Amino acid sequence: MSNPTSYDVATLRNLFPILHRKVKGKDLVYLDNAATSQKPIQVIDALVHYYTHYNANIHRGLHTLADEATAAYEAARVAVQQFIGAAFHEEIIFTKGTTESINIVARSWGSAFLQRGDEIIISSLEHHANIVPWQMIAEEKGAILKVIPMDDNGVLDMGAYSNMLSEKTKFVSIIHVSNALGIINPVEEIIALAHEKNALVLLDGAQSCVHLDIDVKKLDCDFYVFSGHKIYGPTGVGVLYGKRELLEKMPPFLGGGEMIKEVTFEKTTYNELPFKFEAGTPNIADVIVLKPAIDFINNYGKANIRAHEEELLAYATSKLKEIEGLKIIGDVQNKISVISFVIEGVHPQDLAILLDNQGIAVRTGHHCAQPLMQRLGIVGTTRVSFAAYNTLAEIEVLIAALHKSLKMLR
Ligand code: PLP
Repeated sequence: MSNPTSYDVATLRNLFPILHRKVKGKDLVYLDNAATSQKPIQVIDALVHYYTHYNANIHRGLHTLADEATAAYEAARVAVQQFIGAAFHEEIIFTKGTTESINIVARSWGSAFLQRGDEIIISSLEHHANIVPWQMIAEEKGAILKVIPMDDNGVLDMGAYSNMLSEKTKFVSIIHVSNALGIINPVEEIIALAHEKNALVLLDGAQSCVHLDIDVKKLDCDFYVFSGHKIYGPTGVGVLYGKRELLEKMPPFLGGGEMIKEVTFEKTTYNELPFKFEAGTPNIADVIVLKPAIDFINNYGKANIRAHEEELLAYATSKLKEIEGLKIIGDVQNKISVISFVIEGVHPQDLAILLDNQGIAVRTGHHCAQPLMQRLGIVGTTRVSFAAYNTLAEIEVLIAALHKSLKMLR
């Protein structure tokens, strides 16, 4: 980390085999990184290596393969701990992804601690994964879900948030960086204000984890969640970070093997953290290869990757703004390398199909944020999102393809 690999995007691209494929006869231009990022060869190789050399179930085995698999699994936990600055490795729970992590908190914490009339606050920018679990538990417990409003550009109304907070507020669950618009929310302020009322705060870090330096101790969030597949890692694995004293008080989410200390037909005692929340055989292979994904980011350095992405963001933003009738939503200073836009008279889906014909992968639609789209009064946007391996040349290809597509659509 102290001596990052020098940033040469051409060399970096060579680590990603998929970037060399063709789509519809054209070089792939992959601009859907906010949905999932591509995987470097060290991640792919580590997955094959695990299944080829030391596939075994973890923690309970007394043989070499089980020892090796357990050591690699626990090494991934420490890598994640360091990646997000957690105080203790047992504060890192492996899950299926952001969605499961939020559901665990809503269900486990919510079922134990929410009472009728309590209030939960989310924001207008949330992904469905940070809306629905809270609606479900609120309905079950008779709690009230409140939503922080925003302006037409997606900036949260912090005055309204401040007024919304009261002794009744028990939980604030907030998207750190908007997947739909790329906006970085003022989470330090959100957390501090919530804590003044003794409310807990969960940050949905699905989009922030790969772009921003994350230090959960400094942020002082109570929970932080993210998915492996958005940080150059595998699908099917994610992380729930929680402060130890909170996780200790929360009941288990799933019951079964691994999460127990002792079982009799009369009574079960639960295992300690983190195993209390990791019932059954976990996704061993994909947890293990989170470490090479994190190593990849650390090798290049988050700051270097971010500087590169900011250059792409600035260039693409200025080029897109030259297109007649195109409007960027979430056009603010404080954002990551995501650009969401609408074009007058053009349906985003038609545009996506034409771009795909030219080898360009973008995302269109509501981006799993239907209430946000309703608030903006639109059906959806076209979203381009950049990663470490994207280039200025790819932006040129995108802009040329957009001009060509618009000639056909208008
Ligand atoms: N939250 C945000 C902000 C996201 O961008 C996503 C995925 O797009 C999710 C939650 C859900 O993540 P996953 O589908 O990996 O559980």
